[in-house]
Amino acid sequence: TRQSVRNFLRRNTFVLFTVAAVALGVILGFALRPHKMSFREIKYFSFPGELLMRMLQMLVLPLIVSSLVTGISSLDSKASGKMGIRAVIYYMVTTFIAVFIGIVMVIIIRPGKGNRDSPVPSSGNIEPVQAADAFLDLIRNMFPPNLVEACFKQYKTVYSKKVYKKNVTIAVNLTEAVNATEASFPANLSRILQTIQETVEEAVPVPGSSNGVNALGLVVFSMCFGLVIGNMKQKGQALREFFDCLNEAIMRLVAIIIWYAPVGILFLIAGKIVEMKDLVEVGGQLGMYTVTVIVGLLIHGLFVLPLLYFVVTRKNPYAFIGGLLQALITALGTSSSSATLPITFRCLEENNGVDKRVTRFVLPVGATINMDGTALYEAVAAIFIAQVNDMDLNFGQILTISITATAASIGAAGIPQAGLVTMVIVLTSVGLPTEDITLIIAVDWFLDRLRTTTNVLGDSLGAGIVEHLSRQELQNQDAEIGNSVIEE
Ligand code: ASP
Repeated sequence: TRQSVRNFLRRNTFVLFTVAAVALGVILGFALRPHKMSFREIKYFSFPGELLMRMLQMLVLPLIVSSLVTGISSLDSKASGKMGIRAVIYYMVTTFIAVFIGIVMVIIIRPGKGNRDSPVPSSGNIEPVQAADAFLDLIRNMFPPNLVEACFKQYKTVYSKKVYKKNVTIAVNLTEAVNATEASFPANLSRILQTIQETVEEAVPVPGSSNGVNALGLVVFSMCFGLVIGNMKQKGQALREFFDCLNEAIMRLVAIIIWYAPVGILFLIAGKIVEMKDLVEVGGQLGMYTVTVIVGLLIHGLFVLPLLYFVVTRKNPYAFIGGLLQALITALGTSSSSATLPITFRCLEENNGVDKRVTRFVLPVGATINMDGTALYEAVAAIFIAQVNDMDLNFGQILTISITATAASIGAAGIPQAGLVTMVIVLTSVGLPTEDITLIIAVDWFLDRLRTTTNVLGDSLGAGIVEHLSRQELQNQDAEIGNSVIEE
């Protein structure tokens, strides 16, 4: 019991430290605002926060790979299949609920009604992303042709202006050629000219890449790899032990970094407050939009998800959330669910006692594809932009928004403001002007923190729910391991 008392104290000191860090960060930030620091000074000031970000990100790659490989190879394929299906159903259901809440809120509150507050500078050079391209990219990213590259690059189709120019050159050359041969090929002339026309008008999609980890690709690879070495019996033993050991070592590093986390969070938050624009500017429609997203996130995170957890497990959801506090605050501080992942692991395993076989399996997948907060925000933002433009959306368009918002949340990487980028897919799917994204940029840093917190909350409650639903399989597995130990 002395051990457990000590553990209890230790855990709570940390939570206290972290909460105090947030409070101190806010106070310090507002105290320093009047000093009007320069960009460089702000960078220096938030350096301790930047370091925390870097340390956490450093662990993410080996953590995703080792936890998934170990998690899946330690389950038999039937158990992992069942668990996987449960997780995916949970992700889909909660994401759709989030989108639904967002849509209802934005339709009720109507933050974009009235004349638009600010004219948007129209910039003609935003690239034309088609929803279909984005869908295909999502699937392409699941199969990275180069695993090393997947550690720092995502695949993204772009329309290259260069190729466009090259086509123009070809067209000009062709025209000249046609002119030269006009006499000898009169019959083909119109057909050739038509081809040239098409070539000139059509920009050609070329593979491009955006920076950032292709987490989705690594997740898919690690899952398949884990499945295979799990089935390799004796032969796979060495690899299973290797990844298990790697995972253990990474988690020990997490335990060290966690000591530094309160300091980092303090400076991340203070730095952002010093940096942000004056709040007075955020009035009118943008203010109402912010409120709409916040209310939606609160309803989803504090009522709907806990209710779902309670209905399934019959346990107190708020006690579970209490154990997650440190992860939630880290999400608030870093606005990246992927950087928060190491802390999420620790909170779930150490504080909430969730089975490692479940966390290792579902957390990396959740952090990559399950983003309730992002989905909710995408739906609200798209409909807000429609309202600002006085565009009435019919039921079909709202349905399209709910589907593309879900896809956009799956496609968004767990990094700061990724949702803002994938927003383009939602807007183009219903023909809304993509340059209107500039309307919501001013408040995005703030909403990003809140939606990231909701994302992490959704992943964590999901792990609790999947564990509860899979208790039978886990027990069977325990019994099997027990038997084999006795046989040995
Ligand atoms: N920053 C969010 C996350 O990491 C993604 C987003 O921009 O919505 O979960």
